[in-house]
Amino acid sequence: MRVAFTAFCLLFITAAQAQQTTPAKIDTVAARYGETITPAGLSKQLHIIAGPAMEGRETATPGQEKAAAYIISQFAAAGLAPGANGKWEQHYPLYEDSLLTSTITVQNNTFLYGRDFLSDLRSGRQQDISVNHVVYADMGIVSGERNDYNNLDVKGQVIIIREAVRKGLHRDKGGLEDKIRTAKEKGVAAILIISPSAGRFSALNQQKLRSTGLYWQKDTTVLPNVYFITPALASSIMGIDNSDSLLEDLDKGKKIPSRINTTIHIVFDKSATVLHPSNVLAYLEGTDKKEEIVFVTAHYDHLGKEDDKIFFGADDDGSGTSAVIEIATAFARAKKAGHGPRRSMVFMTVSGEEKGLLGSQYYTDHPIYPLSHTVTDLNIDMIGRIDPAHETDTNYLYIIGDNKLSSELRPINEKANDTYTHLKLDYKYNDPNDPEGFYYRSDHYMFAQHGIPIIFYFNGTHADYHAATDTVEKISYELLAKRARLVFYTAWDIANRERKLIVDRHEK
Ligand SMILES: [Zn+2]
Repeated sequence: MRVAFTAFCLLFITAAQAQQTTPAKIDTVAARYGETITPAGLSKQLHIIAGPAMEGRETATPGQEKAAAYIISQFAAAGLAPGANGKWEQHYPLYEDSLLTSTITVQNNTFLYGRDFLSDLRSGRQQDISVNHVVYADMGIVSGERNDYNNLDVKGQVIIIREAVRKGLHRDKGGLEDKIRTAKEKGVAAILIISPSAGRFSALNQQKLRSTGLYWQKDTTVLPNVYFITPALASSIMGIDNSDSLLEDLDKGKKIPSRINTTIHIVFDKSATVLHPSNVLAYLEGTDKKEEIVFVTAHYDHLGKEDDKIFFGADDDGSGTSAVIEIATAFARAKKAGHGPRRSMVFMTVSGEEKGLLGSQYYTDHPIYPLSHTVTDLNIDMIGRIDPAHETDTNYLYIIGDNKLSSELRPINEKANDTYTHLKLDYKYNDPNDPEGFYYRSDHYMFAQHGIPIIFYFNGTHADYHAATDTVEKISYELLAKRARLVFYTAWDIANRERKLIVDRHEK
């Protein structure tokens, strides 16, 4: 489960329709394999996955790679096939850029990155430029009647522009991106922007200013480097004293010559790293409906370690990862005995979840199986614990998202539960107005974005959520097994039913 995302989509609300289902007769074949999912088996898996050797499984670290290798070994031992075009892993690129050095020297005064100026580490490129003058281009706006570049020769030059300090001033005349694009078109080498928030540089975490952290989708457009500079640095360039009121004075119309004669030397250098974390996919071919695919997912990444403190992530989401392995193993056993599913199944453990659902987003952006043939995603994220709301009545599970895209999914899941597992299904967090917004916070959401019906199985949060104390001995293995079995029986029904699950609702 990732941390809460601040922006929420507006959903139109449909009344939850509680459908009464009558318990069906037990399918003894399904039950034979469902019962192979046991507390002992899950415990064995989880003690390895959430053990110290995996170092908290942070995406793009050796711990994550170790976890991937272990999951693959379990899928292979169960007799499943590699699910990513003949391979077990779907790798995706993640980038991390770190500052090596950056200085701006005005005449003989050297100004420092993180104190006197800042730059966007992702888009910034290596630069070492010396000039004997700087071009002042007011706010750098070219829009309608206004042209701040009128009669200015800026090709190959360093320009200095300003941000407005009075709210709303010139705001409709183009944002930062427009200004940078304009400067690029004019061949500018570097843009110095006098920023009113420059005084806050020193309060920020210096380490964070020097590394991008992991990000993806590298933008390869070449833009001029942008440096946000303090009014004090700007005043030094302009050769004036009143730096405190510089931006206000410029707003009020203070005149600055467009050509400022001074020597400036700008240096910017960074290292760029590309990392290749993975999603692990196992495939079990179906029989007469094998073109249709049922997904069961969990994220195997967690938060890694800080110094020697490991974030074990036993519940989050070691519990789901162990469950996916045991469910996959149960289906593989059934197939070996001639009871394989009619539809094909993909068991996918993703990484990048804790970084913002990156692995599942990459998968759904680069699907290996056509999304149009993907029937459902049953996603498991945290099913081994008991939240404070259920301390006295622990036989429960939160069900989220099950009725948003298909009216058939909830009845199927409830029937599986009524027949085999008898948990109290709690729909509290399925309310689109729930402030926690759990529906948006795990990997099923990426499938739902593509119109694929999903169920998110979840035990709620607890005091150990995202803490180093989310450890294996706090897991209830009886509950974990029961909840994993519910996913198994629901998957069994969806994979074997005559008609493909319908998509007849539209809540995203
Ligand atoms: Zn999490």
